[in-house]
Amino acid sequence: MDCIFCKIIAGEIPCFKVYEDEKTLAFLDVAPCADGHTMVIPKKHADAFVEMTPEESGALFEAVNKVSNQIMNKMESITGLTIGMNTYPSAGQTVMHTHVHIFPRYEGDGGGTTHSIVDSAKSADPEYLKKICELLTE
Ligand code: 5GP
Ligand code: ZN
Repeated sequence: MDCIFCKIIAGEIPCFKVYEDEKTLAFLDVAPCADGHTMVIPKKHADAFVEMTPEESGALFEAVNKVSNQIMNKMESITGLTIGMNTYPSAGQTVMHTHVHIFPRYEGDGGGTTHSIVDSAKSADPEYLKKICELLTE
């Protein structure tokens, strides 16, 4: 498969590896948005997060927790983290091998929050929210 992250897992493309276990690999982003910007990926290819099983995604997030603590404990002056996944191209996913971004945050770094990513909600009216809730749980 012509997947750049599968090639990194196979050792065909180099990376700055920061964590590895049986099912997961974490390495520095080649074009970091912040010092220590790290990606955590499953070793088994899945185009996107929602295509993984609950067990597979559980293993991925166990590694995300470990790597997040590793970054919080080791990066100098770090004060927080933003953790996120772009899922499918309309959400900005450019590499179609699922990956979790861990962005270290530093006081006054000028970055946004998850709430700055999208602002397209049609309504916050409780009746409208109730309809969405019913749709999601029917
Ligand atoms: P996405 O936009 O799909 O959420 O994120 C893909 C990320 O992969 C980008 O932040 C990009 O910099 C990173 N990336 C793309 N190719 C490589 C590569 O060959 N090595 C590393 N370490 N990161 C890569
Ligand atoms: Zn892949």
